[in-house]
Amino acid sequence: MEESPTYVQPRLPYANNALEPAISALTVDYHYGKHEKAYIDNLNHLIKGTEYADMELEDIIRESDGALFNNASQAWNHIFYFFSFSPDGGGEPDGELRKAIDLQFGSFEQFKKDFEEAGTKIFGSGWVWLSRDQDGKLFISQKSNAGNPLTDGLTPLLVFDVWEHAYYLDYQNRRAEALHKLWDIVDWDVVSSRF
Ligand code: MN
Repeated sequence: MEESPTYVQPRLPYANNALEPAISALTVDYHYGKHEKAYIDNLNHLIKGTEYADMELEDIIRESDGALFNNASQAWNHIFYFFSFSPDGGGEPDGELRKAIDLQFGSFEQFKKDFEEAGTKIFGSGWVWLSRDQDGKLFISQKSNAGNPLTDGLTPLLVFDVWEHAYYLDYQNRRAEALHKLWDIVDWDVVSSRF
């Protein structure tokens, strides 16, 4: 009998076309349906029968390298990315997260500008992250390829994917515009709960 996989791709909490026009249904079909799925399938294949099979995904990310790190981190990053959005998203954060953003970046508008610029300037494929440290201090970090601030001891709050597969079908080479449109769908309730 076939063993069930360790990691099951979580279903999206919205329809594939629900994030339009920021992200098209076609992009979700490929990005969630093919790319994210492949990373999770590869992860399951790589950990099967190894010491990693019983580890938490976050610990695999912290303690592996090479193909296992790449697939584990890409699986985690994509799940985190797609659960950061909602068709009812957009607007502005409030509460403690908003206070921290205003304190750290001067204003919400300035934070968005800094975050977009950091994402636009990543050379090649990667991710731009908002994270916090143990004291609640916020960090914007640029990560190449599968990078994740968990390996820096930080707690991720929000991420935008700057791999071309995330935006090329909808925006071609216009990465800055693709990132800018994502503010319309960010679920600040989810981001705040991570804070
Ligand atoms: Mn991606």
